[in-house]
This record gives sequence, structure tokens and C-alpha cells, in this order.
Amino acid sequence: MAGIDYPEEAKALIGELKKLPGVGPRSAERMAIWLLQSPKANPEDLARVVQRAGEEVGSCERCGFFASGSESECPVCSATGRDDRLLCVVEQATDVLPIERSGAYRGYYHCLGGKLSPLDGVGPEDLRIDGLLKRVRERSEMEVVLAVGSDVEGEATANYLMDVLGGEGCSVTRLAQGLPAGSALEYADELTLHRAFEGRK
Ligand SMILES: [Zn+2]
Repeated sequence: MAGIDYPEEAKALIGELKKLPGVGPRSAERMAIWLLQSPKANPEDLARVVQRAGEEVGSCERCGFFASGSESECPVCSATGRDDRLLCVVEQATDVLPIERSGAYRGYYHCLGGKLSPLDGVGPEDLRIDGLLKRVRERSEMEVVLAVGSDVEGEATANYLMDVLGGEGCSVTRLAQGLPAGSALEYADELTLHRAFEGRK
């Protein structure tokens, strides 16, 4: 009786789904079977949007936020009417969205692409820090707002940035405490974000 299993193609699909964050073997199997057997499923459409997103979604050369297609800059960097004396530093590109939705901030962003974490082998050279310094040097009287997490790695990242930005002639502020640690901004509500930006110091 050994060797009876899903067909190879279904096994390959389960294998790919299992690589997604938060998806265990059981869920991967359930998703795959749903895709293959449910009348509501449309595997061709799914394949098409996954491929298109993979080809078209990139990072803004300037700030690291999402940029699409042939655009080298994101909609924030190419927008006019924003306050160019404010530069908000976040860990991940996804952190920009809750801040934008809250309406608490109208400056520009710089996404580091992570946070300092010696245990995971993430050092300053792995983050977009050179790009940040370059942007700070482009303009005088700038305020850099550090909106990194309040967990250990976030603190280490903020301290490091305060050090390297110290000699650059810009003012450096941090969001008021009260943001949850970890993926701090992603889950912060609008009121919390307004208070955090108003109370930056
Ligand atoms: Zn950008």
C-alpha cells in the first residue's frame, strides 16, 4: 500500500504553498485541494496575478517603498506638496501604509529594509543607511523622525541611527513611546499613530 499519494503536480503545489508565511502542512494541503477542486477556485487567474506581481512590483530606488512597473520612484517620492523637511524612517515598506492611512504625517519616508539584529546576522550594511545619509545631506534643516519598533532590535537600530545622524546637522526625533513592539506600526491604530507623531521628541 506504500506510495499512494497526491499526483506529482498537486504535491508540487502543496510544497509551494507550504513555503508561505504562517501556512503549515495541513493548511497548504487544504488550499491546494480547494484550488484544484472548488468550483469557486480560479487557479489560472491566481497564477497570472502572482506572476504579474512578481514581475511588476519592485522597490523605490530612493526610499525603499513599493514601486510598480517601470517606475523607479514610488508615489510618495514623486508626489508634490509634501513637507520635504520631514523624513520618517521606518523598518519595513509595509510600515508606511498605516502611517499614511492615519493622516498623522505629511512628509517623506525612508524604509530601512529591516532592523539591526546581530543574532540574525543583520548589520548596518544590510540596511538602507547609506541612502538615508545621502538624503539627509541633500537638504538642510531637516527633521528625521525615527518610527522604528520599541523592541530590543528597534531600540538598537534607533540608537545606531541617532549616532550616525548626530554629525549631520539634522534634528532627530523619535515617535512617542506607546507603540507595541515587534511589527510595531503595522498594527497600531490611527489614534495611537496621531499621538505618537504629535508627541515625538
Ligand atoms: Zn519612494
